[in-house]
Amino acid sequence: MDSSSQYSKIISLHFSSDVVRRPMMYNLAKHFDLTFNIIKARISPREEGHMILELSGKEEDYKKGISYLQEHGISIQDVARSINRDEESCTHCGMCTALCLTKALYLDQDTRMVLFDSSKCTACGMCTKICPVSAMQTEANGDF
Ligand code: SF4
Ligand code: SF4
Repeated sequence: MDSSSQYSKIISLHFSSDVVRRPMMYNLAKHFDLTFNIIKARISPREEGHMILELSGKEEDYKKGISYLQEHGISIQDVARSINRDEESCTHCGMCTALCLTKALYLDQDTRMVLFDSSKCTACGMCTKICPVSAMQTEANGDF
């Protein structure tokens, strides 16, 4: 992959109490130009932290950001993801069909409805960024 292209992964972070109060997420955005979307977060009574988040940016910056987190004692694991569609929210506008490379989202010519074939979905996440009503949703499949 071109190191300047956009890169996005869902990761699980575990960190100890002495890391909880440090502005790690702020530093990821400020120093590595990464964006993050927190999917789940939990701080235990002893203030140990567990967080699942989607981290996005240039691949080179992503790798630097991961190294930065690991250097600060944060344990990181990749999390598998799947994409679901909220059938009630979808307005069948068709915007997502143009960018779904695997044709998991496609227009049914007879009914003019946009259908979702999850067996063809590679969970690339493109549709979640363009859908105007957020009908396409990312689900993290890791333990929490
Ligand atoms: S972009 Fe969203 S609302 Fe439009 S067809 Fe796709 S899933 Fe449905
Ligand atoms: S996540 Fe990617 S492959 Fe799956 S439906 Fe959306 S655009 Fe298509």
